[in-house]
Amino acid sequence: MSKVYFASARAKKWDYKDSLSGKLERLIKKVDFKKYFKKDEEVAVKTHFGSEGAHRIIRPIFIRKVVDGIKVVKAKPFVTDTVRIMGLDYLEIANQNGINHHSCGAPVVLADGLNGKDNILVKVKRGRVLKEVAIATLIHDVPAMVVLSHCKGHINAGYAGAIKNLAMGGISSEHRVHGWKKGRGCIHTFGEGIITWTKDKCTYCNQCVNVCPLGIIEFKGKKWTYIMDECWRCGRCTRVCPEKALHLPQNDEYFQKGLAEGAGAVLSTFKKKKVIYINFLLDIQPECDCMPVADVPLFQDQGILISDDMVAVEQASVDILRKARFIPDSMAGDRKVKEGEDVLKRLHGKDYQLQIDEAERLGLGSKRYTLVSV
Ligand code: SF4
Ligand code: SF4
Repeated sequence: MSKVYFASARAKKWDYKDSLSGKLERLIKKVDFKKYFKKDEEVAVKTHFGSEGAHRIIRPIFIRKVVDGIKVVKAKPFVTDTVRIMGLDYLEIANQNGINHHSCGAPVVLADGLNGKDNILVKVKRGRVLKEVAIATLIHDVPAMVVLSHCKGHINAGYAGAIKNLAMGGISSEHRVHGWKKGRGCIHTFGEGIITWTKDKCTYCNQCVNVCPLGIIEFKGKKWTYIMDECWRCGRCTRVCPEKALHLPQNDEYFQKGLAEGAGAVLSTFKKKKVIYINFLLDIQPECDCMPVADVPLFQDQGILISDDMVAVEQASVDILRKARFIPDSMAGDRKVKEGEDVLKRLHGKDYQLQIDEAERLGLGSKRYTLVSV
């Protein structure tokens, strides 16, 4: 049975120790970084830098607490993510969202180089849907890591936490030689992943054009076009289309299993007991931090969980969310979710438990856990 330490977001005393920052410090002491990280060892602090408009990311103060905790054991932290939009722009987004060397207390670097092509091919063990993926070089090479995951909804995954953070965030968008098929697009789609456009549905709102990280969509006259050979198959254009005029072939089961396998491929580059997971159940918005907006949260802040077992921390997180009451003035209220319903499943219609079950099947951890409140 794996241990998951939990700190509630509620603050009941006028005392720093009862603040979430104070509680995160206690969580870090509880899990005891010195059992995992050695003096002078480099430790990646994997987070998501957010997007322009998606401000509900993990706050820099919490990243700072983790960085400080790593420094206490005299290891060497750096804060990292993989390229979501072209490199310098993504670093600028990080800076605008408050993630920089000054705020975090450690260098902020892109794990797969400025243009996301610095990666190493890794075979996916026991993979049913993935064969080989391009892991960001820094994440591949670093001996230890703390995975900071903002838990929230996700249009394709239903729920997005540590598994998705590792799969989509540890794998590059494409490989220099093999292209998108070895990148995270191989989880988003299958076959040739060709996007189709339905002219009759299109209102020419241009949202797909604006959201494409590569700027490869344009209207030629009244015809939607994109550069298929360059496309990452990230699916952003299809996700934002309000009219469902764009279609990228997807399969829910393939996607959920692909997330677990992708996370497994990333973890296969680490020795045992070298990765710690911190799940933040705060600002639990309906959608991914990659989107150009952040809607109001579906639930009140729940708290922070920490464990050395990815599957356990994910199971504990979704168990908490399934029991949480939704906020009526949120997307859950708009969609008339009923008391007691699984909110994320109802909103996105995805069987997100599958990614956790599959991660357990792959030997990435155990769904059996003990929750210890601090
Ligand atoms: S899937 Fe859409 S948004 Fe993503 S790279 Fe391809 S065209 Fe651009
Ligand atoms: S987002 Fe959809 S409706 Fe808007 S321009 Fe693109 S295809 Fe057309």
